[in-house]
Amino acid sequence: MPQSHVVDKSHYVLSMSASARPAVRVDPPSYVQLETADCFGDQIRGPADVDRGMDWEHINPATGPVYVAGAEPGDVLAIRVESIDIAEQGVMCTGGGFGVLGDTIEQTKWRFLPIRDGLALWDDQSSIPIAPMIGVIGVAPAREAVPCETPGPHGGNMDTRLIAEGAVVYLPVQVTGALLAVGDLHAAMGDGEVGVTGIEVSGSVVLHVGLRRDLALTDPLLENATSVTTIASARTLDEAAEAATRHMASLLHGRLGMPLHDAVMLMSAAGNLEVSQVVDPLKTARFVMPKLAYERSCGRLV
Ligand code: CA
Ligand code: ZN
Repeated sequence: MPQSHVVDKSHYVLSMSASARPAVRVDPPSYVQLETADCFGDQIRGPADVDRGMDWEHINPATGPVYVAGAEPGDVLAIRVESIDIAEQGVMCTGGGFGVLGDTIEQTKWRFLPIRDGLALWDDQSSIPIAPMIGVIGVAPAREAVPCETPGPHGGNMDTRLIAEGAVVYLPVQVTGALLAVGDLHAAMGDGEVGVTGIEVSGSVVLHVGLRRDLALTDPLLENATSVTTIASARTLDEAAEAATRHMASLLHGRLGMPLHDAVMLMSAAGNLEVSQVVDPLKTARFVMPKLAYERSCGRLV
C-alpha cells in the first residue's frame, strides 16, 4: 500500500521555484492530498470583498511544494488525478483589461455561483454542469522561478480542462525532488477561458504521484481513458499549436516507430488540435490523439 500524505492550504507558493521549501516529502509511488485555495487566494467570497478590493499580488497560490524523493532532472512525474472535491461556491470575474474582451468591458465585474448537486447555478433558471479540473499543476523549473499564473514546460497555469479526475499528467522533472505544486481548481471552464476565469473554486485534490524514467519529455503530456494529449504554451496561440503538434508527431514517431509522414497523416485524420486557454501570460494549446487511432496496431504511447 503506497503512503498517503495531506497538505493543507497554508503551505503554498506563488511561483514555481527551485529554491522553494518543500511542504512535504513523499516516496513514490505515493498518494498525496492537497487542499487548495481558489485562484484569488480565497480573498473574494462575496460582494463585500469585491467592494473592499483585493491584493492582486496574492493570486494563483499553489499548494505544496511536494518533494518527490528520487526524482531527478530528466525523470518524469506521473501524476494521476484520483479525485477533485470542490467547495459550494465558485467565483468569476472579467473586464478591466482581463480576458479577450478586457479592452471593451471597462470595469472588472464579478459573479458568484452556488454549486449544488453537480450544478453551478447561474441564476434561478439556468445552471452549468460542473466538470471539475485543475488549472495549475507544475514542478519547479530548472532556471529562474516562474509565477504560478504562467504555464510552460514545467506545467503551471495550463488551464486545460482535460486535467480532471482519472487523467494522468506527465511533467518533466527539472530539479532534484521535482517540487510539485497544485492550485486553481475550476468547477467548470470552457476552452479558451475567454473571460479570464473559469468558475474559480477552492477545494481538495487527491493525487497518486509516481516516477517514470523511461519517458523523455520536454513538455507536459496528459493521458486519460480515451486519448493521449500533448500540451504546449507559447507567446502566441500559433506557436503553442505548432509546438503541441510537433511534440505529438515526435512521440508517435520516436516511441512507436511510426514513420513521421504516417504519424502526421494519422494526426491529420484522427487527432484534434485544440485551444486550452488564451488569457494567461503565455497561451496554451493541445494536441489530442485518440488511442483508438493507433493503439491496436502500434501499442501504448506512454
Ligand atoms: Ca488559471
Ligand atoms: Zn483559475
